[in-house]
Amino acid sequence: MTQFIVDAMLGKLALWLRLTGHNTIYSPEIHDNDLLDIAVRENRVLLTSDAELHERAQQKEINALLLRGNVDERVARVFGEFNIPPRIIPSNSRCSKCNGLLEELDETKKEEIKDLVHEQTYNHYDRFWLCEDCQSVYFQGGQWENINEYMDRIRRLLS
Ligand SMILES: [Zn+2]
Repeated sequence: MTQFIVDAMLGKLALWLRLTGHNTIYSPEIHDNDLLDIAVRENRVLLTSDAELHERAQQKEINALLLRGNVDERVARVFGEFNIPPRIIPSNSRCSKCNGLLEELDETKKEEIKDLVHEQTYNHYDRFWLCEDCQSVYFQGGQWENINEYMDRIRRLLS
């Protein structure tokens, strides 16, 4: 699976790539030189909206894509370019906050996250996903509908 590194302007794109399971480096504080170094060292595709950075990447023969347009158009372009289906399967996702791997906890194991979520949430859902790195907990709550709606929008832009 393609691994990415995205520039500091593309946080939303990084989120969608992580949720679709792609190992994606993103930090709002990362410098251009570091982006280029990491892309070379870890053989990552650089995604950027900065024409100058894109030019520098090409000079170093880094696989880079220059993104134009609004956020939705950028997300759709990347999904189209790399054949990423606009569909989120949480067991295949990475943590949207830190890029960590998620562990699925079914009802037999959900006790592990009892102290990490509100009691109501804990009682209401049977399946949770726990980030192995930052301990963020995911579940298919209200935000899940927004996620699916957004993926529908990207699907429409792609067709
Ligand atoms: Zn995390």
